[in-house]
Amino acid sequence: MSIHHDGMDERINIAIDGPAGAGKSTVARSVAEALGYIYIDTGAMYRAVTWSAREAGLDVEDDKAIADHAAKLDIALAPGPNGQIVLLDGQDITDKIRSRDVNLHVSRVAANDAVRLLLVEMQRKLASGKGVVMDGRDIGSHVLPGAELKIYLTASVQERALRRFRESGNASGVSLEVMEREIEERDRKDMERAVSPLIQAEGALLLDSTGIPAEEVVSQIAELGRKKLAEAKQDVI
Ligand code: C5P
Repeated sequence: MSIHHDGMDERINIAIDGPAGAGKSTVARSVAEALGYIYIDTGAMYRAVTWSAREAGLDVEDDKAIADHAAKLDIALAPGPNGQIVLLDGQDITDKIRSRDVNLHVSRVAANDAVRLLLVEMQRKLASGKGVVMDGRDIGSHVLPGAELKIYLTASVQERALRRFRESGNASGVSLEVMEREIEERDRKDMERAVSPLIQAEGALLLDSTGIPAEEVVSQIAELGRKKLAEAKQDVI
């Protein structure tokens, strides 16, 4: 006898967490593509709130003002020609949220409980239909603890800084050394914060991508995803 299951059961959720510049978004996007899943960049949501708050002249230390501001925003993620587009109240802010100013302030905004509550609720809704590859810091540990596949993706800080440096070229206006220091500082804040800090979630597989091409990491995760999917199907029969 087989138990009837609809299309929903044919998909799993994949959580990819790790420090800044570990290649999470590149890898998560390609894994989603390989499996026909939806890619969700949760860092972009914290960045959108930060960018908007800074534009509005708010102090990121003022938790109440930031939370009130965040509650009024309409943040949407949509597929674009080069990956995900971030819309804020209908305005495309995809490039704006990658600025150095946002890099320097986003961890403070992400330590705001009320902001996290708001964004985590959105993230859970987005993943409720399964078939999602979500990257962030607390996805496997807090947002989607039931995700069938959890990856903790990291790389040496030197390599992570170098990747970011190459991506931004001269646009960032900072040296490789400064970039490395700023990445370390952001990781420290993300790992030490009181609410949902960056940790390797229980059951998460550690992948160190230092010196490993992105394509290799992608095929490894996609393969693991297919295995987990097969296991999930076995479980419902
Ligand atoms: O992934 P990305 O580097 O764009 O994330 C920007 C920042 O957003 C992180 O440094 C972290 O402070 C915050 N973040 C978070 N939880 C997530 C995703 C991002 O706190 N799930």
